[in-house]
Amino acid sequence: MTELRHRFALHFDWVKHRRVIAGREVILHCHHYNSRIQHTLESAAGIDGKRIIREAAESVFAEHVLNALEAGDATDTRWALAAGLYAHLGFGALDVRGVATGRVTAASSHFVEGWNAGFAGRTEPVCTLTEGYLAGAHLAVTGETVAYRETACRISGAAACVFERAAGPRAAIPPVARALIAFSPRPAAAFPAPAHIDGDKIVSALVAMPIHGDAEGLIPAFGVYLASTPADFYNLVCIRFIEEMAAKGLARNAQRLLVSDAETCALNTFRGIMSSPEWDALVAPMLVESADSLYGVVAVSNALGWGNWYVTQHTPGATLRIESVNGYEAAGYRELRGTAAAPQCFMLRGVAAGMMGLVYGTGTMADRFGTFASSEAACICTGAESCRFEVRRA
Ligand SMILES: [Zn+2]
Ligand SMILES: [Zn+2]
Repeated sequence: MTELRHRFALHFDWVKHRRVIAGREVILHCHHYNSRIQHTLESAAGIDGKRIIREAAESVFAEHVLNALEAGDATDTRWALAAGLYAHLGFGALDVRGVATGRVTAASSHFVEGWNAGFAGRTEPVCTLTEGYLAGAHLAVTGETVAYRETACRISGAAACVFERAAGPRAAIPPVARALIAFSPRPAAAFPAPAHIDGDKIVSALVAMPIHGDAEGLIPAFGVYLASTPADFYNLVCIRFIEEMAAKGLARNAQRLLVSDAETCALNTFRGIMSSPEWDALVAPMLVESADSLYGVVAVSNALGWGNWYVTQHTPGATLRIESVNGYEAAGYRELRGTAAAPQCFMLRGVAAGMMGLVYGTGTMADRFGTFASSEAACICTGAESCRFEVRRA
């Protein structure tokens, strides 16, 4: 596998602030966020959240795995690359030696770590994304459309997660229809630069860090487990969740849940980042006044593949206006659904509130949750030039 790793080399697109691995834009999020949005979908009554996750993963990873393959790769190599990409992205370690007989196992799982941290006690298997990943990988490697189901999971004490192929072929999921949009984000020079924080230096340092799966296929960093997940996956999952909830008259509930998940993610991930040796070495020397921590967190977030955003107004402890010039939610919504009647960037909206709660709140992360309220006052999805978020004390 080592000699094939170059196929997963990270390319950072400085214009769009996107991380690209094997030809796909990937987004860094932590296990708190990933398990929370999964929990939100899978526990919503009246919709099949597992199906939404599985189908999105299958369609996105069929394309992603195919990107990593080259003409002339033997079948064993193709499966090794499928497992290698999965591990490189931080989802865990897949053992595909039994795949010809329909059985794949995993000794580690990003999702098991996430659920154990946030929702201990679940006994039902949690590696839903992996079921879709394997179906997508199977399609990329063999050309066949099949299903995988997790029949044992480490979440309920099994020694390894076990995925078994369902007998026989099944109908293919239609390919995802997207319209590529021509879009040039507003340049950094259009925004005021923070007085003490060198954002480009922080982004450069983070991009240079080897943030990819270790021997277990996990990315323990900043006190959380990170994973690089294609932006398309998040966008498909969140858009379809809201659409299915909207059909039940619950669109606003769905949106609120996604905002809450993102606020929790920001509190946990950025707390981990602010107490890491990397923060001490890189950002702490730039901190002069209290507001600088907020600017530092924003700079760090601009290395995660979310796009880039800039603080346009900030009263320490009270208010924040922040403008995102090309968030992945907005770009994805435009590609997948066109324009919208209302703003659609629920992840960034929740993160904006969480960052303020982290920097200016007190007590535990649970105490700080909800300290600040955030709204999206303008959105690229509705035709605005950029997405603008406004945060104030709740
Ligand atoms: Zn599992
Ligand atoms: Zn937006």
